[in-house]
Amino acid sequence: MGKDDLRNAKYVIDIGPVPSLPVEGSDARFPVGRIYCVGRNYADHAREMGHDPDREPPFFFMKAANSIVQNNSTIAYPVGTKDVHHEIEMVVAIAKGGKNIPVDQALDHVWGYGVGLDMTRRDVQGEAKKMGRPWEMGKSFDESAPITALKPVSATGHPAKGAIWLKVNGQVKQQGDLAMQIWTVPEQINYLSSLITLQPGDLIFSGTPAGVGPIKAGDKLEGHVDRVGDLVVTYRA
Ligand code: MN
Repeated sequence: MGKDDLRNAKYVIDIGPVPSLPVEGSDARFPVGRIYCVGRNYADHAREMGHDPDREPPFFFMKAANSIVQNNSTIAYPVGTKDVHHEIEMVVAIAKGGKNIPVDQALDHVWGYGVGLDMTRRDVQGEAKKMGRPWEMGKSFDESAPITALKPVSATGHPAKGAIWLKVNGQVKQQGDLAMQIWTVPEQINYLSSLITLQPGDLIFSGTPAGVGPIKAGDKLEGHVDRVGDLVVTYRA
């Protein structure tokens, strides 16, 4: 069966709507396929995590698409952890798939941008690192990916510099500039598409600046990326 034969397929169970994000200035939503996240992409954050920020090749992990949280939500403190960390990131939304996408054509594949939080069960991730196990239970869990409405490239351009910050209860915790990314967005797309075929609907979390740290029940998180948007998430007390 080809892809087109499956468009009108019947299913034996209902899994609900396709995960999606609102789009600023439109009634139509952006359907989310896969979520790739680049690790240690700001030198100061790599250092705070105890790594040499030299330009070793980028590496990626994933979050499930249904871990998305809509902007301005109030959510529960995650289960299975006592040490949830915030990581504020710019999110890249892919419109056009491809493999081995050249750096100088990579931005043609981008639909737009958003602001996201790569929420992390740091204790679970730390245990996985120590045991040589996968990171998923530290990174991909219920409500681990709050993201703003997306803005199309026509509204944002392709942000390569500009402030990125996160406040917890009004206090600045993370502060950086997109220009501090070790691997630029075009380089991330180029590298990722050499390992997997990028698909329309894929999102890329492009890394977090220094200042990651724990949150607690009742905290209000406010994130910002210049030109891209503002994200607000509150953890239920
Ligand atoms: Mn991250």
